[in-house]
Amino acid sequence: METHESLLELIGNTPLVRLRLPGDGRGAAVYAKLEYLNVGGSVKDRIGLRMIEEAEKSGALGPGGTVVEATSGNTGAGLAMVAAAKGYRTIVVLPDKTSAEKLATLRAYGAEVVVRPGGLPLQDPEHILNVAARIAEQTPGGWFAGQYGNPANPAAHYLTTGPEIWRQTDGRITHLVSCVGTGGTISGTGRFLKEASGGTVRVIGADPASSVYSGGDGRPYFVEAAGRFRHPETTEDIWPDSYQQDVVDEILPIADRDSLLTIRRLAREEGLLVGGSAGTAATAALRVAADLGPQDLVVVILPDSGRQYLSKYFNDAWMLRQGFLDSDDGDASAPRVG
Ligand code: PMP
Repeated sequence: METHESLLELIGNTPLVRLRLPGDGRGAAVYAKLEYLNVGGSVKDRIGLRMIEEAEKSGALGPGGTVVEATSGNTGAGLAMVAAAKGYRTIVVLPDKTSAEKLATLRAYGAEVVVRPGGLPLQDPEHILNVAARIAEQTPGGWFAGQYGNPANPAAHYLTTGPEIWRQTDGRITHLVSCVGTGGTISGTGRFLKEASGGTVRVIGADPASSVYSGGDGRPYFVEAAGRFRHPETTEDIWPDSYQQDVVDEILPIADRDSLLTIRRLAREEGLLVGGSAGTAATAALRVAADLGPQDLVVVILPDSGRQYLSKYFNDAWMLRQGFLDSDDGDASAPRVG
């Protein structure tokens, strides 16, 4: 029989698909790792599974327990899916810029959702991390997943995403491009690929312009879940434990407008419906590939699906309101006729 006893066995092993956008035959080939094909819809299924399994092993999470996390959405969905499959309760604390689709998805998995203002300094008791930590403490059997400080986050990518890419490219990958949110994806995947290649694979972060990772001032930006907003008066470290700086060779800042126009093109010209941070990563990957040659091979990680952002990035009225589309042509990414 070709069957599975649990959907948790299906997490990972996502395909690599060539991007056609570069189109002019110059530069290096770019292959996209389609993380939206994970069963829970994003790259974060991998860490949802690993963080919960490690917590079970250490005894931090047990029968009747409650998983608590502060997240921009996908980690919550990964945790809520795994928790539902294993019989745990989930409580997720999110910033108020989170899309309506992500909130609805969490509720659909049976998670309890708590929304708090984003952009507060860490010392504010209402910062989502403090709210989540408090809820975990006050809930009997509560366990705070803590993706920013949990070694199972980068480890999930070191043990799965990295080896998959190495195998899928027959060891020919020369450049990895990934967004940086918690840094787990780029650190774990990048570390594995550097070790496997004897240090030759170059690891490039793609960061929303104004996020602190690329030296920005931390002003709020629109792309969700990538980069890091850091309040100017915060006591928070710039670099969370889940981000391993020594793995990353370079970080490219990418403007929101470029990220969002790229995903609208990917949807219309390639049939790839992906989220805003995938646009940040793909824009960076196309820039990197343009300066390389046919002997190089770029892999870019596309974290989630565009279906989570239909009311924002794929909604012309929203895009016009934010100034990402020009009102005179209505839709800058639409094919022009005549
Ligand atoms: N893009 C999306 C859509 C995400 O959900 C995340 C995870 N927060 C990232 C990018 C960044 O990944 P990481 O946290 O592993 O750096």
